[in-house]
Amino acid sequence: MRLHYLLLLPVCAIFSAQAQTQPWQGKFEPIDNMIAPPNSYRTASGAPGREYWQQRADYKIKAEIDEKTNILTGEETITYYNNSPDDLTYLWLQLEQNVNKKENPDFGDVRGGVSDGMNSRQMQFLTRPIEFPAGYSIKYIKDTSGNTLKALVNNTMMKVMLNTPLKSGESLTFSLGWSYPITDRSMFLLSREGYEYFPEDDNTIYLIAHWFPRMAVYNDTEGWQNQQFRRLGEFALEFGDYDVEITVPEDHIVAATGELQNSESVLTKTQRQRLDQAKKSFDKPVLILTQEEAAKNKKTKSTKTKTWKFHAENVRDFSFASSRKFIWDAQAVKLPTNTVMAMSYFPEEGLPVWEEESTKAIKNALEVYSEATFDYPYPVAISVNTSNIGMEFPMISFNGGRPKNGKMSDGAKKGMIGTIVHEVGHNWFPMIVSSDERKWMWMDEGLNTFIHQRTIEERYPQFSHTTPKSIVPFMSGDKNILRPIMTTSDNELFSQFGSNFYIKPTVGLQMLRESIIGKELFDQAFKEYANRWKYKHPNPGDLFRTLEDATATDLDWFFRGWFFTVDHVDMELSNVKWYKVYEENLNIEDQQKKKTVKIEGESAAENPKDFSNGPEVITMTDTPDNAYGGFLSRLDETEMRKQLQGKNIYEITIKNVGGLVMPVTIEWVYTDGTTEIDKLPADIWRLNEYEVTKTFLKDKEVSTVNLDPNFEFADTDMSNNSFPKTETKSDFDSFKEKKTQK
Ligand SMILES: [Zn+2]
Repeated sequence: MRLHYLLLLPVCAIFSAQAQTQPWQGKFEPIDNMIAPPNSYRTASGAPGREYWQQRADYKIKAEIDEKTNILTGEETITYYNNSPDDLTYLWLQLEQNVNKKENPDFGDVRGGVSDGMNSRQMQFLTRPIEFPAGYSIKYIKDTSGNTLKALVNNTMMKVMLNTPLKSGESLTFSLGWSYPITDRSMFLLSREGYEYFPEDDNTIYLIAHWFPRMAVYNDTEGWQNQQFRRLGEFALEFGDYDVEITVPEDHIVAATGELQNSESVLTKTQRQRLDQAKKSFDKPVLILTQEEAAKNKKTKSTKTKTWKFHAENVRDFSFASSRKFIWDAQAVKLPTNTVMAMSYFPEEGLPVWEEESTKAIKNALEVYSEATFDYPYPVAISVNTSNIGMEFPMISFNGGRPKNGKMSDGAKKGMIGTIVHEVGHNWFPMIVSSDERKWMWMDEGLNTFIHQRTIEERYPQFSHTTPKSIVPFMSGDKNILRPIMTTSDNELFSQFGSNFYIKPTVGLQMLRESIIGKELFDQAFKEYANRWKYKHPNPGDLFRTLEDATATDLDWFFRGWFFTVDHVDMELSNVKWYKVYEENLNIEDQQKKKTVKIEGESAAENPKDFSNGPEVITMTDTPDNAYGGFLSRLDETEMRKQLQGKNIYEITIKNVGGLVMPVTIEWVYTDGTTEIDKLPADIWRLNEYEVTKTFLKDKEVSTVNLDPNFEFADTDMSNNSFPKTETKSDFDSFKEKKTQK
């Protein structure tokens, strides 16, 4: 039967194409066996389940900075709520400051190796643990009746033994006393906190973070998340309310997580009036403390103290900064459901750019992130200036970038603004959408960088932002050192984590948004994920499942390739054939120019290098009656021939060289100079993961065919994307050349 013949034709084509040496790799198979199975805590649709539970920890802390010794002393009371279905016989607390102790594994590690001519800062990484009494002194741990609780310390983790088990559904209150010497940030690698000393005016800026013993996370996927702090994998923390009293020299200004509770006793009347004014200033910041006033503060060097009281609700951490060097500005930012005080604290070393840009950058981040996810829920958002790097905490971040002699290059300014946007953005990921940073660095860094880059694109169009092109050098790199995104935080190389955990997930999300799912549907799904998991602990599977659940798009192929492998995208346009249908009314001489070719036949022009040979001619034969399978209606072949007359049939063959399956965008450049785009979904690779052939009917004659003309899919080699082949170098080749020249 003809019907069978029609069906057999494409099936045969598939079989013959599949008869190749490369094995099927299952690139479109579900990833169910690669992510945790759904259960009553986490549903198959990616939402928290009916029985989802989460622990909670409330803190009351009193702390004091001794400016003479740089020692921070604290007393804290923790109320820990066991909402888990399990009874607990011990609790794990995090003691991150112990990472700086001499016993720590990185003791003696000189980054870059020992060589003659090592600078003193590198040498300091070798000597500081000997000289510096780093880490906690735990003075006591006791329950509310005053009974001592026994504790065992394993480096950065402390196990508190309970006298009686903490039953499911019950809570426990206990207290700790402790102190530790604050680190000099300039002498510790990857220091997110510590002090910075300014010898020229004998003053210090204290940036205080992961400073008090904090409850480790206990949850349904990890049990106790008690992996050691190794500097790269950051924090896994529970939500709770905080009442924190901070005692510092009376001429210091303190910026902290939460709302100030005793402004009457720590701020002057003028400062309070200016703050009230700032609450109504929506278009620009108001100076709460001017440069002149800070200059005066710098000189007083009071030995008396003041206590600042802060209250914060539903946060997973608490951090603060203190100095007499701070200039302080603030403005109000109106969001649909919240009005936030955006505030910046900086020394005069940050002028003039910090006064011009910091609070503005907070505002931009608050607006774009709120629109992309949910409204910023907290009362304040603070940016504090530091010498270098940026680090995030709830409601407050420490951000690097200072001008030199009052001037800042465009590049440095872009870096500084980007840092502020990024660290403020971390309020969403992971401070509220609270993924496990110690395990999955990409979950907060990747999602945050994605919206951070969108903020730059929307609010700072004068700056460049991350696009799929940005990841090409990394993805073309040495496969022996590349790890998949789905690698736990501490197993990634220092040289690679920026690209692998920040940029690659960002580009992945950009491709989903711009080219695979589409903006409207993707944005709604991303918002859904953020809202499902705010104030909760999502896992990678919860993100993957939600993005499919909310879009009706099978993305397992994308997650499998982009997140679980180190494959890259490299599509090769290996062949383009041009056909025309035999035109019956054309005279034989004209016809002669075009060879008549059998559809499946071999031809001398099988692999033409360009279109100069002209089209090959296809004859269209009549369909035999038996092919209609008994249907009485028949095709009007004359009409069909008329429709095809003069039309061009292009058959293109694309090879998947890089390994990642991706959609394919085809650009047709016509001989009249116009262009047209066709988009093929990734599904074209379902039946053959290595090579596909597709046919298109075009009115106009084509001069050039290009794959991925707008660089949507991070194709690592653009030199094989065109027909006829162009001699232009791929961006990656130029990049490589540049690199080797350096
Ligand atoms: Zn970050």
